[in-house]
Amino acid sequence: MTVQDEGLDDLEVWIDQDLCTGDGICVQYAPDVFELDIDGLAYVKSADDELLQDKGATTPVPLTLLNDVRDSAKDCPGDCIHVRRVSDRVEVYGPDAD
Ligand code: SF4
Repeated sequence: MTVQDEGLDDLEVWIDQDLCTGDGICVQYAPDVFELDIDGLAYVKSADDELLQDKGATTPVPLTLLNDVRDSAKDCPGDCIHVRRVSDRVEVYGPDAD
């Protein structure tokens, strides 16, 4: 059964580094998805552990880490973690979610 069959949409996440405080909460919650770089800011990582530093770079949210990524977005002091649907780019968790 695919993710779609279960009624769950594929999600992706990106960070607005302009607002990141560098506290590292996201890295504590989901170290497979987020990492602090030497500039002291958090970035998302690709599935093969590569830091994605392009502005607005996204990475898929693994279903197994969905709760951790969602909690990161909710508790992010900078309000700068954006989780959105891949299909229509609508934000589901983060400062621009309904
Ligand atoms: S939780 Fe938010 S503010 Fe803190 S390091 Fe992660 S992205 Fe930056």
